[in-house]
Amino acid sequence: MIQKIAVFCGSSAGNRPEYAEAARRLGECLGRSGRTLVFGGCLDGLMREVSQAALQSGGRIESEFIRGLYRESDHLPGAVEHIYDTLEERKAGLIGHSEACIALPGGMGTLDEFSELFARMQLGLPRRPLGLLNTLGYYDPLAAMLKRMRDEGFLSAEWDGLVIIKSSPEELLSEMDRLAEAYRRP
Ligand code: AMP
Repeated sequence: MIQKIAVFCGSSAGNRPEYAEAARRLGECLGRSGRTLVFGGCLDGLMREVSQAALQSGGRIESEFIRGLYRESDHLPGAVEHIYDTLEERKAGLIGHSEACIALPGGMGTLDEFSELFARMQLGLPRRPLGLLNTLGYYDPLAAMLKRMRDEGFLSAEWDGLVIIKSSPEELLSEMDRLAEAYRRP
């Protein structure tokens, strides 16, 4: 089972309650299965929902802060905190302290983190599962874009199956566990 999962998600909550509900459900799944949530640290929007649900359900938290954005109010009891000077170091921390990553609905920050991780794997970072929690079909356009890249010859077939897209957190985690196991095999 994957132990440490980085979650990228909106620092806003979005316009529909389903986004916060899905973030809480994912947090509960992570907590109940005893995993560690690695995330960007701020307690706004979906970042708050997923981290508080994980903590309340028995999960561990690692917060990867940027010094300039750190607020006392973002401290979660028991969380391991890392503080970085730059966005680049912080992203490296999110990636380095996790074994797999899930993007929930979010904005450009979320997309940046997801894209960077995918691009880094293309450049040699060992493979890990990437999940998209597709609440209300939020990531259908990104799935279509990935397919278009592939169809038009900009994304190699070797990456087929790397990104797992599910609307249920339980299904997403179990598919990601299965893929992580497959990557671990020699
Ligand atoms: P966005 O999707 O644009 O709201 O950005 C959210 C993503 O960027 C999260 O996964 C965070 O890691 C990071 N992020 C955005 N805002 C903050 C903030 N104030 N503090 C820490 N991380 C943030």
